[in-house]
Amino acid sequence: TAAAPTAAKEIRVAFVGEPSVGKTSLIRRLCYDEFSRQYVATVGADFYMKRISLPGRKEVTLKLTDVGGLELRGSMIDKYLFNADMIILVYDITNPTSFDYMSNWLAIVLGLLESAPFFAVIGNKCDLEHQRAVRLDKTNQFVADHNLISLLASAKTGESVDACIVDLISRHLGLP
Ligand code: GDP
Ligand code: MG
Repeated sequence: TAAAPTAAKEIRVAFVGEPSVGKTSLIRRLCYDEFSRQYVATVGADFYMKRISLPGRKEVTLKLTDVGGLELRGSMIDKYLFNADMIILVYDITNPTSFDYMSNWLAIVLGLLESAPFFAVIGNKCDLEHQRAVRLDKTNQFVADHNLISLLASAKTGESVDACIVDLISRHLGLP
């Protein structure tokens, strides 16, 4: 008889950032390979699961938390984030405010958690590069100041979404 399959490692990933930057869209692209133009604000938080294969055929189960944008000011935020292994800060490359607010998110998350989880930044909507309003030198500075990993993606076209996640999880696990 075959040996029982070993349970895949679980990694908890929380997506945070200002409303409408595309957190829900990135997660839905990743989990269901779909995109909607309609904007439905996330209230509270939503939870998703996704199994992914990493280089070397290693499988992991991602538990994704989509934290509603307004939770920054709310009292539930610590419950959504306290056991996250990785926090992905999302901004919209066409929206400078969404970029500026990432430092607030970073400060809040660090203030809530005892140990700093792995942080990454995703600049979403890179299909709108011609409308870019966040200067690259600003992103580079922020990333350097806080020692973060920063990547670009588009939930709309799907560009780099899977690759970003595989890259970030691999780094988190220290895979080559
Ligand atoms: P959230 O509030 O951060 O969860 O943002 P949503 O995922 O709900 O997306 C907000 C709006 O931006 C929606 O109208 C989406 O269709 C749109 N959107 C999300 N991702 C992209 C993207 O990569 N490119 C473009 N052009 N629009 C996007
Ligand atoms: Mg949302």
